[in-house]
Amino acid sequence: MGALYAALKLAPRPVLVISPERVGEGASSAWAQGGVAAAMDVADSPDQHAADTVRAGAGTVDATIADKVTRDAKDYILDLTEMGTPFDRDADGNYVLSREAAHSLARVVRVQGDQAGRQIMEALITAVRQTPSVQVLEGVMAAGLEVDNGAVTGVWVETSALNRSKPSLVRGAAYLLAGGGSGGLYALTTNPPRIRGQVIGMAARAGAVIADAEFVQFHPTAIDAGEDPAPLATEALRGEGATLINRQGERFMLAIHPDAELAPRDIVARAIFAQTQAGNRPMLDTRAALGAKVLTQFPAVAEACARAGINPAVDPIPVAAAAHYHMGGIDTAEDGRASLGNLWVCGEASSTGLHGANRLASNGLLEALVFARTCAEGIAATLGAAPADVPEVAIDFAPGGSSPDFDLVQQLRQTMTNMVGVVRDAAGLKSALRTIATLEARQADCPDFVNMTATATLIAASALMREESRGGHYRSDYPEADPAMASRSRITLAEALAIRAAAVKETS
Ligand SMILES: Cc1cc2nc3c(=O)[nH]c(=O)nc-3n(C[C@H](O)[C@H](O)[C@H](O)COP(=O)(O)OP(=O)(O)OC[C@H]3O[C@@H](n4cnc5c(N)ncnc54)[C@H](O)[C@@H]3O)c2cc1C
Repeated sequence: MGALYAALKLAPRPVLVISPERVGEGASSAWAQGGVAAAMDVADSPDQHAADTVRAGAGTVDATIADKVTRDAKDYILDLTEMGTPFDRDADGNYVLSREAAHSLARVVRVQGDQAGRQIMEALITAVRQTPSVQVLEGVMAAGLEVDNGAVTGVWVETSALNRSKPSLVRGAAYLLAGGGSGGLYALTTNPPRIRGQVIGMAARAGAVIADAEFVQFHPTAIDAGEDPAPLATEALRGEGATLINRQGERFMLAIHPDAELAPRDIVARAIFAQTQAGNRPMLDTRAALGAKVLTQFPAVAEACARAGINPAVDPIPVAAAAHYHMGGIDTAEDGRASLGNLWVCGEASSTGLHGANRLASNGLLEALVFARTCAEGIAATLGAAPADVPEVAIDFAPGGSSPDFDLVQQLRQTMTNMVGVVRDAAGLKSALRTIATLEARQADCPDFVNMTATATLIAASALMREESRGGHYRSDYPEADPAMASRSRITLAEALAIRAAAVKETS
């Protein structure tokens, strides 16, 4: 979403968008079910939205960024509406708002229950296809950044098909990374298969500073029926009154948090994880709250349940905590710039400080929109007048590249879920770092794979360094938050590799 919205906001300036799949297909954005958080209601305000964002973030949200992102949220909803997104409205034309966890009131605009991401992306894709200044190269992905004197001067790209090309260098006047998060680095994830931290890893390999890498959000209610990725049962279901029960029928969240099922995500995710570990089979029960309405009001959930042979109107839905959102990413300033020159970042690949240690539900799409516009404005201001008549880009790809080995990727993902997941400790994190190093050495000549292992290293090393528990980061060996550590983390890949090398050395 970030890339397309930025490209539109840069028009009529010429923009080249590269996309590994048909545009929009590999994106988390198209899978977003809940919607976009925005203070639309007269009873609501950007200040309250910002306050909820800060509270959910567990002490490390940058309040200036929370203010920036929430202030004009309504304008983005109106802009998307104008582009054709059919947000749900009531008979008077007011936006229908869902309540999601840790929001103090209903604040999430949605489309046909759980279709927000798909419909917003359709509107953006249609707009991009009608915008002559945007050239989209499909089947092409970035593999590395070329850097000179601390500034990006080019992008190494390759074909994304299994039969990869060798990387080719493409040069532009300015560079925007909007390649999504890292959830797919985990074996149990809600993210599309393309989203495996490669873009964050690529920036880190080029020397960019990475922020808050340890903060990964695990979604409490991924449907646990054996699919990879695991389909999501949106939090809006709990907003509608769905409850969490275990195989004994116990509503276990009541004893854990006053907000029960609508407690902050990290708390619900750990409770679900504990139930799974104890063999209690946690389940989401929509029967009393929604009955058969779940089938029509939440079509994506109904479809995923049908694939697994579950009728949620009759049976509770088995769920598990799955890697869902990376609060960490490329350290990105308020103006959208990364630490490398000539590089802007938006969306989940960035870490702006909005989410702190725990993202407030449905703030992800909003952040992508706000920073896409910020980046577009920053790029336009930096480059000055738009050039006329820029020729289309054509790339000659040479065969002979390398694509990630399936087994190595699966081992990497399993390591992340087992050792760098919902509950972490020093021994597990060091073991993960050693495994990542071993796997990386086995395919060190594959840029796509080393981009993944770079991000995995950054997450595990940062998690090892944060000797406390905060938000999405829980250390069983340091179960309390340490007030002295209530700040964001920043790390380079060189620093993370040194931490990894020390872990390797410990056992040799
Ligand atoms: C199942 C699910 C439900 C969600 N629900 C919500 C929700 O309701 N509300 C909310 O706010 N957030 C939600 N999120 C989070 C939100 O969808 C993401 O944070 C957001 O979509 C990220 O947008 P983005 O533009 O940064 O990345 P994406 O939408 O993921 O787009 C990244 C793009 O980069 C491309 N790409 C990847 N690697 C490369 C490469 N090497 N070279 C070139 N291109 C590349 C991908 O193909 C993709 O097109 C959800 C996420 C998931 C997975």
